[in-house]
Amino acid sequence: MRRHYFLDEYTIIAAERGKRPSDFRHAGTGVRSDLRACPFCPGNEEMTPPAVAAYTDAGVFADGEERVKGWWARSFLNLYPAVTAEPQPPSGEWVADFARGFHEVIVEHPDHEADPSRFGQRDLQRLVYVYKDRYTCRIREPSVRYVSIFKNRGRAAGASLSHTHSQLVALPIVPPALLREMEAIGSAARCPYCSLAEREASSDRLIYENEGFVLIAPFSSKAPYETWVLPKGHISDLEGLDPMDLEALAEVLGEAHGRLDRLLVSPPYHLTIQQLPDHRYHLNIRIQPAISTIAGFEKNTGIFINPVSPEEAAKDLREA
Ligand SMILES: [Zn+2]
Ligand SMILES: [Zn+2]
Repeated sequence: MRRHYFLDEYTIIAAERGKRPSDFRHAGTGVRSDLRACPFCPGNEEMTPPAVAAYTDAGVFADGEERVKGWWARSFLNLYPAVTAEPQPPSGEWVADFARGFHEVIVEHPDHEADPSRFGQRDLQRLVYVYKDRYTCRIREPSVRYVSIFKNRGRAAGASLSHTHSQLVALPIVPPALLREMEAIGSAARCPYCSLAEREASSDRLIYENEGFVLIAPFSSKAPYETWVLPKGHISDLEGLDPMDLEALAEVLGEAHGRLDRLLVSPPYHLTIQQLPDHRYHLNIRIQPAISTIAGFEKNTGIFINPVSPEEAAKDLREA
């Protein structure tokens, strides 16, 4: 049983089950791919709510009467939001607060077939720039305490459309898991993520590194082939990244996506950007392939059983 670096979270590594990458390969993403009906494709902008930000070579614009054309990324409020800016008043004794906030869909690329695992450096840089820009825009809203940016890829991971996209949910609270992390970080002598990035750079869980970031298979991986991207320097959130950091982050993210895709062949996954606008926090990005079953034991205990050791996962990903 392995404990999370500094939280009371446990994982059981059950490598004796002898799972290999081929045991997890999926035939495609299982998400419908109809070009004409795709609301995220250029020319179909009217099928979505107006963009709050359309990213073009000429600058960033919001959709007006006419939808902005020639974009390389665009973000709009979700038609079916998990949270809204003007929520209905709570009803019933179990509803304690308004689900107040913003829910955006970020279309990452105009090309219907594009995928971050095959993005070149220019498109990767655009993607991290857009993540930073959307984050910065929402975290500055007075009512917002936390901005969740995540990507569900593949039907098994909850994506209903195949056109590459991420989502952003801005919340009026800091999620309890982040509060617990902050508590643990606050009681540590040194930022645990700084120690982690330093230590893992010379461990057998290192997959890739460049001047600014490490890509590792975390010691207490909850999912097979889980990876984390960590800045080597202490940076709390995307807003703290300068242009050189963004370039390095784009590069390492391309490595993470590319290696995972080659090894597991278009696996479904969840990517989450963990960050807080608090100088004590340390930005980290986690990619968890959605290829193992979360069942009764996990729900009962909160402990995950992972059939692939992170050391073996890192070796496979280094070679991919
Ligand atoms: Zn499309
Ligand atoms: Zn740190």
